[in-house]
Amino acid sequence: MWRSYITGMNANVENPNADQMYQAVVQRDASLEGVFFFAVRTTGIFCRPGCRAKTPRRENVEFFTSADHALSAGYRPCRRCRPTELAGSFPDWLRPLVLQTENQIDRRWTDADLKLLGLSPIRVRRWFQQHYGMTFHAYLRTRKISTAVDQLQEGSDVTSVALESGFQSLSGFRDCLRKWTGQTPSDAKGKSPIVVDRILTPLGPMLAAGCDAGLCLLEFADRKQLPRQFQRIRKQFGRPILPGSNEVLKEADRQIQQYFGGSRIEFDLPLRTDASPFQEAVWNELQKIPYGQTRSYGELAQTLGKPTASRAVGRSNGDNRLAIVIPCHRVVRGDGQLCGYAGGLWRKRWLLNRERKSQSLPASKPKRD
Ligand SMILES: [Zn+2]
Repeated sequence: MWRSYITGMNANVENPNADQMYQAVVQRDASLEGVFFFAVRTTGIFCRPGCRAKTPRRENVEFFTSADHALSAGYRPCRRCRPTELAGSFPDWLRPLVLQTENQIDRRWTDADLKLLGLSPIRVRRWFQQHYGMTFHAYLRTRKISTAVDQLQEGSDVTSVALESGFQSLSGFRDCLRKWTGQTPSDAKGKSPIVVDRILTPLGPMLAAGCDAGLCLLEFADRKQLPRQFQRIRKQFGRPILPGSNEVLKEADRQIQQYFGGSRIEFDLPLRTDASPFQEAVWNELQKIPYGQTRSYGELAQTLGKPTASRAVGRSNGDNRLAIVIPCHRVVRGDGQLCGYAGGLWRKRWLLNRERKSQSLPASKPKRD
């Protein structure tokens, strides 16, 4: 049954229970790689299910659906199985492929695609059979299911609704927005509303909100905090929030597409952050981190002339509601490890990898004032 959950095409995602996960840990079942992570309370370390380290006692084990969750619970990644590095457990020749599959979770891979990457399809198949006991395609399905489980676990009811109705569809988006804000077009009488539109990206749909004066929100649509963010914006601006579009949103869409297409490394958009002076200062500094580079919280605090304020800097970073445009994904831990990202660690990893790789491309470099 466990197996059928993993390899089956069944779209009904159900969570493996703790006993099943513990069994997988005992058996070092690498086929569950990526489906969950386990942490050991006595050592403070977390691992992939296939880790070769000593088997922990059941009562000391805690399970997580993502490395990100384990990190936020205060666990350190195991040095042996390197759970924060997706490709850490793959041989060098396979890593580029694994990273690509992670970046395009819905893509269907053909033998021709593999050959284009300089890989022998037979060798790839054999490797997954040997190490995961499953075909390459079954592995891809596992990753997809685990991403879905992750989102479901994270989500409140609202998020599940968002996922089910699917922001991919316009009606789903409109329904959901109405649920979050309780507003209908008639509320806009006499007031110019804040309009919200979707921007579709390779990392999933984003929601963009803005008034004529500027963009005030840009977030991935599965972010748990979204309903609260919208409520905050409505209060702050004292205007209704409605689906629609305007010049600001159209321009944001255009620039985001250029960014994902690799032809834009900086944004030139009017922003409405409307935050405290300290937050504004942090966000200003964030925007100065060059494309493809990272800074630590400590470094940012230094630059702001408040070397002891790295926690406050971290909080402001987390409060950023303009993903990508204010590049909070370029902030990492002091030791260079990736750490929490509201849009999910996998997205942060994707963005940073992408930026590092495409730095060699000739990019348009619009000036920022
Ligand atoms: Zn380990």
